[in-house]
Amino acid sequence: MPELPEVETTRRGIAPHISGQRIRRVVIRQPRLRWPIPDDLPQLLKGRKLLSVARRGKYLLLVFHHGTLIMHLGMSGSLRIVEADAAVQKHDHFELQLSNGSQLRLRDPRRFGAVLWTGQAVTDHPLLAALGPEPLDEAFDGDYLHDCGKNRRSSIKQLIMDGKTVVGVGNIYACESLFRAAIHPTRPCNRISIQRYRTLAEEIREVLAEAVTQGGTTLRDFLNGDGKPGYFAQSLRVYGRAGEPCPGCGNPIRNKTLAQRSTFYCPTCQH
Ligand SMILES: [Zn+2]
Repeated sequence: MPELPEVETTRRGIAPHISGQRIRRVVIRQPRLRWPIPDDLPQLLKGRKLLSVARRGKYLLLVFHHGTLIMHLGMSGSLRIVEADAAVQKHDHFELQLSNGSQLRLRDPRRFGAVLWTGQAVTDHPLLAALGPEPLDEAFDGDYLHDCGKNRRSSIKQLIMDGKTVVGVGNIYACESLFRAAIHPTRPCNRISIQRYRTLAEEIREVLAEAVTQGGTTLRDFLNGDGKPGYFAQSLRVYGRAGEPCPGCGNPIRNKTLAQRSTFYCPTCQH
């Protein structure tokens, strides 16, 4: 599943090719994604200039003067830039044809992605209005995280994966940041000191920033490539490494299911 760094990598990959272009034509091949693609999009966007590409959480925001196209990659979606004559492939459900002759195509085999339109302020859209701060913004820090968690008895892992607390900390990055902060994933939120919350907030920012930086090396793939930014497996210390030695103490990494998600941790280093 694309997580925040993959979405940010996608944004950086496509933005230079589509910002400032006018929409020549919108093609909807399969409208039934997670929600139906609005059928008036072709009329709404035809001839309009795409001003910029922004991101909020895992939503990509294609900004126009008269509104915003909201895109989500779901479980399996990817975006790529192709030439006008590039053959349409299976699962290519949506396409923006641009005035420079290239096209932005959404491929999504499992169709959990989304393409939606709002003519209102995008921050008020129901999908975006309740989102917590961006982990890389200044509003997100240990004191904020401590305020969110100090009265909750649920696990710290659930708190940081809740998009109302902070956006974009998916399962992989939750496991990695808790390992780096030496906090056990099942520890109750109300039993963690503010100092440890500060360490955790720093590690969340660090692990996501590193992943975004590494994602930058795959940018060329957005041009006529498969559009799939790679996962950053080489830098993961615990995620997917059950049974392997912990990089901190050498004891085996454990894997247990917590809130239906595979959770990787070191029972010695994390407490
Ligand atoms: Zn360890």
